[in-house]
Amino acid sequence: MKSKGTVYLVGAGPGDAGLLTLRGAELLKRADVVIYDALANPELLRLAPATAEFISRGKNMAMPQAEITATIIAKAKAGKTVVRLKGGDPYIFGRGAEEADALAAEKIPFEIVPGVSSITAVPNYAGIPLTHREHCSSFTVFTGHSDSADAATALRYDQIAKIPGTKVVLMGTEQLADWTKALITNGMSPQTPIAIVHRGTTGRQKTIAGTLATIAALAANEKIVPPALTIIGDVVKLRGKLNWFENRPLFGQRIVVTRRSEQAGTFAQRLTELGADVLEVPTIKITMPTEKDAIVDCLLELNSYDWLVFTSANGVTAFFDIFFRRFQDLRDLGGARIAAVGPATTAKLRELHLQVDLMPEEYTGKKIAAAFKKYQHIDNVKMCLLRAEVATPDLPEALQELGAIVDDIAIYKTVPETEDATGAGERLLEAGADWVTFTSSSTVEHFHTRFDLPKLVKKFPQLKIASIGPETSKAIFALGLRPTLEAKTHTTEGLIAALLKAAKT
Ligand code: SAH
Repeated sequence: MKSKGTVYLVGAGPGDAGLLTLRGAELLKRADVVIYDALANPELLRLAPATAEFISRGKNMAMPQAEITATIIAKAKAGKTVVRLKGGDPYIFGRGAEEADALAAEKIPFEIVPGVSSITAVPNYAGIPLTHREHCSSFTVFTGHSDSADAATALRYDQIAKIPGTKVVLMGTEQLADWTKALITNGMSPQTPIAIVHRGTTGRQKTIAGTLATIAALAANEKIVPPALTIIGDVVKLRGKLNWFENRPLFGQRIVVTRRSEQAGTFAQRLTELGADVLEVPTIKITMPTEKDAIVDCLLELNSYDWLVFTSANGVTAFFDIFFRRFQDLRDLGGARIAAVGPATTAKLRELHLQVDLMPEEYTGKKIAAAFKKYQHIDNVKMCLLRAEVATPDLPEALQELGAIVDDIAIYKTVPETEDATGAGERLLEAGADWVTFTSSSTVEHFHTRFDLPKLVKKFPQLKIASIGPETSKAIFALGLRPTLEAKTHTTEGLIAALLKAAKT
């Protein structure tokens, strides 16, 4: 009989992907099966191997608890390493204990990995410390979704109302009017400060503050829906001073990142750190180019080139993937000088301990050729361009005009990404966004193939387009649209600077 797999009940944290524990990340990396709830941030799924099986519980917990438990048990019995990813901490109001009970009964080995609970994290991100020496020395947590038919677990509002200190209420949205009224009836001041936070710790966080008497009406007005957490007590007033998260410059803006996920990392993370609600919708992935003979010829002749020219980090990665499949030794690269367009391309080469001899600052063919000319006479100089299959002819033409002998090698091809593993694409189609960012003409084209950009702009008139530079803008104009902004410096940093500037005006 196959030995049983271990089940890890892992706390996914409250929403911000950065709040997963190290242990949780480690386990996700070796999961065979990941079973996750809607509350767990789907971005975390990227940590698991692409070959893992992903099982979603669905919206509003579409899959019943019994079925979830049965699935966990069946997968473990089949010898799989199962990560059961649950929002916040797995044991807090999440039925984690029931799942653990079932595993214990089946004698399936399990481990519970605590998570950062919304209880502490969500107030924090709303600028509210749960305790403060000047305000309280305790806090109480309860659910606002009580089943009062069960006397043993029913909430006693008469007692809760009397406890001093901060109160935190989970699952309190639907019956907000009832339980706030019950607390007042049982003696709490109607003036007690209270805040309700929807989707805390994420770019979608929304906070409403009021008093115990007014909050139900305010929340109804603002259409606050679950998941939301409520904080009651004087500490709510500290929000004015301590609201570090909601005061971030891009807070409240939903920004679509269309780069490949391997590349999107730092760009998406920077935007998130600036407070944006980032939707990562990678539109392209990289594969081998159609024409392979030219690459083989180029590898045989590497020694004959005076320059190897890389115009993107993708080009560097693709070239060295192929190079190291053929050669064991970096010295087989030969003695050519290396040119890299832009800092990201340069950084990728430096990872291989290769120094860049020339880094043209500007990205157009003419400007790059001018940088070469400034460096040396390029008449009869032999250059190897290692670029994407569909790159524009501007650069080789400009170099040839100056007398260079140019081999333009397609080292990789971009193809459309069609999977929507995290559901970000679906969210975009449902809810729109404030910005969609494009970092190359191919991201524009592939995004358009998948989402029909003009149609999307029509459906969501607030959607603005941000372009990294003129080549990318050209692709946007070609669709009959215009970018709302174009970065002055044609890097992701430049694009971020432009978005920040737009946010200020
Ligand atoms: N185990 C989870 C709680 C599960 S119960 C934890 O430890 O956080 C689900 C409730 O948690 C929601 O109804 C809401 O009250 C609260 N909650 C969880 N994540 C939240 C978030 N990001 N923002 C606001 N409330 C959240």
